[in-house]
Amino acid sequence: MADDPTPVQTPVQADTPEARRYNRIRRWLDIADFVVGFVFLVVLLVTGWSSALRDVAIRFGSQVYGLQLFVYLALLLAISKALGLGLEYYGFRLERRYKLSNQRFPSWAWDEAKGFLVGLVLGSIVVELLYYTIREWPQHWWMLAWALFMGLFILLAQLAPVMLFPIFYKFEPLDNEDLRRRLVVLSERAGMRVRGVYRWKLSEKSKKANAALTGLGATRRIILADTLLDNYSAEEIEAVLAHELGHQVHRHILKSIFVQAAVTFVGFWAANWALHFAIDRHLFDFDGLHDFANLPLLALVSVVLSFLLMPALNAYSRYNERQADRYAFESISSIEPFISSMNKLAEQNLAERLPSKWVEWFFHSHPSIAKRLAAANEWEKMQGASPQA
Ligand SMILES: [Zn+2]
Repeated sequence: MADDPTPVQTPVQADTPEARRYNRIRRWLDIADFVVGFVFLVVLLVTGWSSALRDVAIRFGSQVYGLQLFVYLALLLAISKALGLGLEYYGFRLERRYKLSNQRFPSWAWDEAKGFLVGLVLGSIVVELLYYTIREWPQHWWMLAWALFMGLFILLAQLAPVMLFPIFYKFEPLDNEDLRRRLVVLSERAGMRVRGVYRWKLSEKSKKANAALTGLGATRRIILADTLLDNYSAEEIEAVLAHELGHQVHRHILKSIFVQAAVTFVGFWAANWALHFAIDRHLFDFDGLHDFANLPLLALVSVVLSFLLMPALNAYSRYNERQADRYAFESISSIEPFISSMNKLAEQNLAERLPSKWVEWFFHSHPSIAKRLAAANEWEKMQGASPQA
């Protein structure tokens, strides 16, 4: 980059046209998915179809509000799934076309079905709680709903590794005792008590490599994709884990929960404001706060807010990622495995090493590979320059 004052030590490998094309298509898919969702919500409200759906739900809900609400949500999610299915199928074909996955159609379709059911269950819990607070405390519902939502969010983060992930992937305890011990030592140095290291059978669904520290409290565990375990050296896997531990050391999870809490607080406040605005002006024919035909309006507030905050939240995330990288540099014995693991990951996942500036600014939660490598090289240079004890 022309305005970068510190020249990169090792020249960054240029992105292949294939990687550029793949990432461009992925991005357009994400944008299309967002637009379809946004337009769907607006159409539901403006045409009055939301109220029509509510009438259908009331007919099938046999006088029970909770059941009517469930029927309405199920209809809404089913229609939205049908609308988005074409794009998702295209995404599935795309991964195969670029040889990033060898998942078969039946397995993909089964994942889609499971994903829909999981979404319906989680969505029902959220929506039932939401309208319960609206009916019981119409004045202050949004603050209570916010508190409940955050409680649910933390509970879900805790339960996800043991209840949600196994619905889609198989996990087994890591059988490589030597590697397990190395990773446990590295974790303990970061002050983390490891509750388990798992082999994540990602290869059935994707050829991309991945690793993560997941869960909270008792479910906190290291998961390493088999696609990583089978192709990376122990030192490279240590480098990848060291980055994850950097998040732990810098308390990024706790901080992210606070950020999430602040964002959703604003979100619920805005949702309440939008509901009152619509009801006072007799927009969209709502029958009051408790009328669940207004659900698309609540969803719309959340969609618009997420969209507006995306660059800021991504910038915050990139800042955290840089911090985690720095922790990794400091805690591994040599920078080489970090650099080679980054290069391998970029190649294996067909990542863009150097995306355009605005793409990185808006879409990316991680700094580009080129920047991460430059930071690693820079860090090593500084080490060399400072007198060693
Ligand atoms: Zn990270």
